[in-house]
Amino acid sequence: MDYKFLPTTDPQVLELLRAEEARQKSGLELIASENYASAAVLETMASVLNNKYSEGYPGKRYYAGNEVVDSVESLAIERAKKLFGANFVNVQALSGSPANLAVYFALVQPGDTILGLKLDHGGHLSHGHPINFTGKTYNFVQYGVNPVTGRVEMDEVERLAKEHKPKMIVAGFSAYSRDFDWVRFKQIADEIGALTFADIAHVAGLIAGKAIAGPIEAGFDVVTTTTHKTLRGPRGALIFSKDEEVAKKINRSVFPGLQGGPHEHVIAAIAVALGEALQPEFSEYAKKVIQNAQTLATQLIAKGFKIISDGTDNHLMVVDLQNKNVGGKEFTDALDRAGISASASTIPNDPNPPMKPSGVRLGTAAITTRGMGEAEMVKIAEWIDRVAQNFANEDELAKIKKEVSQLAVKFPVPGI
Ligand SMILES: *Cc1c(COP(=O)(O)O)cnc(C)c1O
Repeated sequence: MDYKFLPTTDPQVLELLRAEEARQKSGLELIASENYASAAVLETMASVLNNKYSEGYPGKRYYAGNEVVDSVESLAIERAKKLFGANFVNVQALSGSPANLAVYFALVQPGDTILGLKLDHGGHLSHGHPINFTGKTYNFVQYGVNPVTGRVEMDEVERLAKEHKPKMIVAGFSAYSRDFDWVRFKQIADEIGALTFADIAHVAGLIAGKAIAGPIEAGFDVVTTTTHKTLRGPRGALIFSKDEEVAKKINRSVFPGLQGGPHEHVIAAIAVALGEALQPEFSEYAKKVIQNAQTLATQLIAKGFKIISDGTDNHLMVVDLQNKNVGGKEFTDALDRAGISASASTIPNDPNPPMKPSGVRLGTAAITTRGMGEAEMVKIAEWIDRVAQNFANEDELAKIKKEVSQLAVKFPVPGI
């Protein structure tokens, strides 16, 4: 990045930014939730829109001077609706978790029963984990994956739905590599009169790129997503609603229910990212992300790695490390020393405690943004295998780090 003012104003912070740029450039990013926003998205976030208070919604603001902001937010809304084929959208939620809180706050009451995917089976904290606000406030019943197939079995979801009669069914995941059967979720919910809420934080970019099916076309009442994972925008969120009635409740829930002034510099950057995602190249990107994940999975399986559900339909995979005699934390620490970033992950029914999980989650969204393809996936699988065999051998890890860096610098990071 070009920094015009920091060199004189704050060299100390500049030095830190440069160090992070170097880290992002020389390493391989396999954290499934991460990606690189474009230079245009980064530039927009650094704009004067940061200076403006605009509590309210376009045309109905509490403070003066929001003519431009109204146009910016309306543009983000129009592009989000067009890209996802949605009827209504709120673009103000500050991130994925606050967006989910806004949905619950708008549509269910404390104590209401809700069905959600268990965290260690691939769900998210905000889908009812006991330590999360959602788990403490609502009566969550949790579904999981089948221990043999590693997949969510819809008959089991139906059985739980009929037994517990939840007011809402949450469908979505952070660490699950298979397509969700959105249509069947909606059918089950309709049979018991439950609201349908999908959280597509991880796969929104793949859905927007038409590489996989989404919940909006399946008729879900409400859908949330982050904007910074596969969608490749700034850190933010979108909340889609099917009906005007629900949309009004969501808007009131976000403001004044939970938040104050929206971050319009981020909303402008969301508009830019959505504009990028509306281009035909984005669809190519989404398909390439999945191809790369499938290549990486196939290569790892060939080297004896066990992948939950034996493969992937999206950008990620959870690797069960139990047959490799290395814990998830030990392994990701070793990968890090070899220049590869990944996140330790629980596996379904993990025999080890959450602080010592037995798996690692890998994703291809970021490396695909850098332009990597099949040849690089083969190379990356080899490095991952070497790290697994040498996780305590510092010399070997240092050697791998050098090789990783030599490959990585050939693929530019957008914005750097
Ligand atoms: C990442 C994620 C979130 C949370 O997003 P934040 O922006 O980190 O708050 C919510 N739901 C799911 C399914 C996610 O993967």
